[in-house]
Amino acid sequence: MTGDAAQRSSTRGRSTLIRNVRPYGEDPTDLHVADGRLVDHLDDPDETVDADGLIALPGLVDLHTHLREPGGEEAETIATGSAAAALGGYTAVFAMPNTDPTQDSPVVVEHVWRRGREVGLVDVHPVGAVTVGLGGERLAEMGMMAASAAGVRVFSDDGRCVNDPLVMRRALEYARSLDAVVAQHAEDHRLTVGAQAHEGPVAARLGLTGWPATAEESIVARDAMLAAAAGARLHVCHLSTAGSVEVLRWARASLGARAGDGAERSSTQRRGFVLSAEVTPHHLLLTDTAAEDYDPVHKVNPPLRPEADTRALRRALAEGVVDCVATDHAPHAVEAKDCEWSNARPGMLGLQTALSVVGATMVEGGLLDWRGVARVCSEAPARIAGLPDQGRPIAPGEPANLVLVDPAARWTVRGAGLASIADNTPYEGMELPVSVVHTMLRGRWTVRDGKVGQ
Ligand SMILES: [Zn+2]
Repeated sequence: MTGDAAQRSSTRGRSTLIRNVRPYGEDPTDLHVADGRLVDHLDDPDETVDADGLIALPGLVDLHTHLREPGGEEAETIATGSAAAALGGYTAVFAMPNTDPTQDSPVVVEHVWRRGREVGLVDVHPVGAVTVGLGGERLAEMGMMAASAAGVRVFSDDGRCVNDPLVMRRALEYARSLDAVVAQHAEDHRLTVGAQAHEGPVAARLGLTGWPATAEESIVARDAMLAAAAGARLHVCHLSTAGSVEVLRWARASLGARAGDGAERSSTQRRGFVLSAEVTPHHLLLTDTAAEDYDPVHKVNPPLRPEADTRALRRALAEGVVDCVATDHAPHAVEAKDCEWSNARPGMLGLQTALSVVGATMVEGGLLDWRGVARVCSEAPARIAGLPDQGRPIAPGEPANLVLVDPAARWTVRGAGLASIADNTPYEGMELPVSVVHTMLRGRWTVRDGKVGQ
């Protein structure tokens, strides 16, 4: 049986009654699932699950995951990354193209897409490279990737910035014709040569070369202008500074950008121009002082920023200026992290801790309720990427993509206990709130009682 056939047959005919569950944290109710969808009522369910007051959210959607396969299987595979995603409450993830070979052709994106379907724990959507080999010079076969079985609608050179403004302009114009979005890793590489940590007093004290905030902010501003001129959709990856938030406000107010939901809010908005942005959990919680221990687990790109930025990012996420949370889940093998700071690769695990960090920073911080969490972790990313069957309301007729979470749980993070092959979590030993108890993908449990499978 092919992966597709297996997926179809496994949802057909199965029905589930989920009792005593609180959609978006509101009043308890029962949810009925049949043939992969929520339905009004079931007479004779195949199974009944007592949710005991757990909160139900639409399955989470991650716009920014590094699954490392093909080429980096010593750190993560599509199977282990999918397990981490399901355990983190995700029902769809976008796999970044900095693999080996690069996801810059139909053959490679179709391979990743097929392997994701075979594993079947989460919908794996490959992100296509903007330029051949992430080289920043020649546009990749964007149209062919869009037309492939993988149906690519998000393009990025993530890990690298599309630094050349002419290449970026062409990419935005081409993406517009494909109804696709360009996700930019905003970093002017001329300003970050040798950079090791956020440019500021902490890096100066530690003797680390600084990564200035302007290297990000200047690219976000430039790209907003290019996207406005092209009438195109631009998404900013891992936005990390208060100044970048101000650039977003300016672009929405003065350039006529629509937010990631595409909704028109005023008559001055420009046709086709959509500007969205994501923030990572680690930029919501951790600050540049984490580098003081010289532990490369805290090395990440863009780097951890001072607390003033962290506060601005939390506020911007609550206000909807930053549209969504994306993990930038970046597993690295021990050799890439267990070395001196300057030689270590940047990146952190994120899939299994994201919802807990959002709970700690945004929910416990009083900045978002659970409806807000559904917006920033599921609805907005699904809309930005154009997924019709994710981030949907919890209502009859909608696809049964759900996560059931225990908001009162507390757990201690242990990298060795996470599903990823790599263990580079920056939260080692930290106690975090909120646990994912069950995850359901199209009516089928991918996680039950915190474990993969049924
Ligand atoms: Zn990046």
